[in-house]
Amino acid sequence: MHTLTRDLSMLQGVDGIALAGEAAYERGRLAWNLAADQRPAAIAAPRTVAEVVAAVRAAASAGLRVAPQSTGHGALPLAARGLDDAMLLRLDGLTGVQVDPGRRIARVLGGTLWRDVVVAAAPHGLTALHGSAGDVAVAGYVLGGGLSFYGRAHGLAAHHVRAFEVVTSGGDVVRASADSHPALFWALRGGGGSFGVVTAIELELLPIADVYAGFLLWDISAAPAVLRAWRDWTGSDAAGQEGPGRDRAVTTSLRLLRFPPVPELPPFLSGRSLVVVDGAVLAEDDRAVELLAPLRALAPELDTFARIPAVGLLDVHMDPPAPTPGVGDHAMLGALDDTALTALLDAAGPGVAEAPMIVELRQLGGALAEPGDAAVSRLAGEYALLAIDVAPAPEFVEPAFARTGAIVGAMSNWRDGAPYLNFVERASGAEGAFTPEVAERLRRARAIYDPLRTFVAAHPVPTA
Ligand SMILES: Cc1cc2nc3c(=O)[nH]c(=O)nc-3n(C[C@H](O)[C@H](O)[C@H](O)COP(=O)(O)OP(=O)(O)OC[C@H]3O[C@@H](n4cnc5c(N)ncnc54)[C@H](O)[C@@H]3O)c2cc1C
Repeated sequence: MHTLTRDLSMLQGVDGIALAGEAAYERGRLAWNLAADQRPAAIAAPRTVAEVVAAVRAAASAGLRVAPQSTGHGALPLAARGLDDAMLLRLDGLTGVQVDPGRRIARVLGGTLWRDVVVAAAPHGLTALHGSAGDVAVAGYVLGGGLSFYGRAHGLAAHHVRAFEVVTSGGDVVRASADSHPALFWALRGGGGSFGVVTAIELELLPIADVYAGFLLWDISAAPAVLRAWRDWTGSDAAGQEGPGRDRAVTTSLRLLRFPPVPELPPFLSGRSLVVVDGAVLAEDDRAVELLAPLRALAPELDTFARIPAVGLLDVHMDPPAPTPGVGDHAMLGALDDTALTALLDAAGPGVAEAPMIVELRQLGGALAEPGDAAVSRLAGEYALLAIDVAPAPEFVEPAFARTGAIVGAMSNWRDGAPYLNFVERASGAEGAFTPEVAERLRRARAIYDPLRTFVAAHPVPTA
């Protein structure tokens, strides 16, 4: 669709734009996910909305598409699409947070990280529907939906966005909300980054100053007992009795983790294989203690669950503190019967040599399952399965994908629900994420705001 003739010469020497061979280009093409080999035609690093507009116009005049990127946590599927016809628009210089405590709203600029929002909201006794990692950007996260440890109580982060400010492919600055450009507002809440450059987001904040949260950790030899107990707790046991972890106050994850022996890791992680349950319980201490009792009865080696300031929830999941080369696979799963637990343990339990570094089940349901009027209406399924492995050099990418793909393959009998965009790392993995009706509505929105299909997103709008 984008048919302009390419001419990079007009970008040479333009302030804030780097071309291949320049030092700024080599720095700028590095994504948070170091396994993503991004080689765009040009890189722009705007620090203001006016510079975003100028960069979008410069790309158009040079015959390039535009790939907005805030951190590159989602860079793997983007790089896999090929960026040789695109300008990578790095938004990590366009950051800032303003909190309006009276209205419980934060206005965050396009490339802002979650940690900055949570830190700015905390003095007002407020927090936000952030995910497990503080260095993920708000923009990419809400454009994909936004699955938080507050999610089963409060729903998807995308459903708590009041407005987006967007630079369209024509260089116009548009404010999209329920009342203004509603088709764009609907599309941006879960439809991905195909509609423009998001330069600001207005987010609803939650009146939460502190939270009962933490992790329980066991050696992986306990995985069969812990997995079964967590399934009974978050779902129902073999007799159909619902577990206490189905209380909406609770959102947790269970991970099978394998760490190499490296000095950067604390001793309780370094060189160890583990099973870890972590998350948040939005209840008074007594009630939280009561809810967690069945898991604590399994005598974890470490138990950090306690009341902590809301900012502390950013560290509970122990996501990598710095850019990392990772690949992953994902599927939504329904209820897990005993055969499902056996299948997961056979693929990644104790003694399985070829298991990926992380195999994770995130608990869904509650408010996450309730429909909202947005491109991502709800998350179907009971659990989101994620398998993640490291790929420190290009030759490790395919073997790592083979290991993560094997986990999803082993659980294919329990697949239920459309894939969740934010957890999709393969360029082809988002297939089925949108129903035909939603895909058609997204295409109609794109036809209005990006008729030439200028924008290249990690997860594009499906073709008709
Ligand atoms: C360690 C880790 C932990 C994670 N934890 C969670 C979690 O708890 N819950 C969850 O839901 N997800 C989680 N994710 C997934 C994460 O939400 C997605 O990878 C998300 O796309 C990252 O957004 P980003 O802006 O930081 O990344 P980017 O790679 O910069 O962005 C991804 C895509 O979003 C679009 N985009 C980003 N910024 C803009 C912008 N300003 N304007 C227009 N389009 C834009 C683009 O299409 C871009 O390709 C996690 C990922 C990692 C690696």
